Amino acid sequence: MRKMTALLALVMTSSGFPGVAAADTCELHIEANDQIQFNKSELVVPADCDTIALTLEHTGELPVEVMGHNWTLTRTADWKTVAQAGAGAGLENEYLPQDEKKELIIAYTDMIGGGETTGVTIDVSELEKGGDYTYFCSFPGHWATMNGKLVVE
Ligand code: ZN
Repeated sequence: MRKMTALLALVMTSSGFPGVAAADTCELHIEANDQIQFNKSELVVPADCDTIALTLEHTGELPVEVMGHNWTLTRTADWKTVAQAGAGAGLENEYLPQDEKKELIIAYTDMIGGGETTGVTIDVSELEKGGDYTYFCSFPGHWATMNGKLVVE
């Protein structure tokens, strides 16, 4: 019994302080719902993070075919171009352009349905401190309301 208690304490210690254990990885969490909304209009990343681990949680119930959400990041100058070009690309391509416009995409997650969670890891060295970035959902029509700013400061 004493041995079990000690083991439990060890497990809790090693996983209890993610901010300290993984100081170089900054975690971001954003939710999307069945009302075609993200729960945040801005995400802030400290420039001294090496890596961003972004998690997207779809808190709705509708399936991906009718209420799919993802999280796509581009420079603000490019986001509408990418969103519009991707509308015809199909669910199998996350509704993202497959031609040369694909190079404008900095990062993206899988397209998910209600109750699902996905994520993506971003190398912060690919981002510019003070740069102007916009994230959006690339499901056709969703970008108009599902978008926000990523701030690197
Ligand atoms: Zn969406």
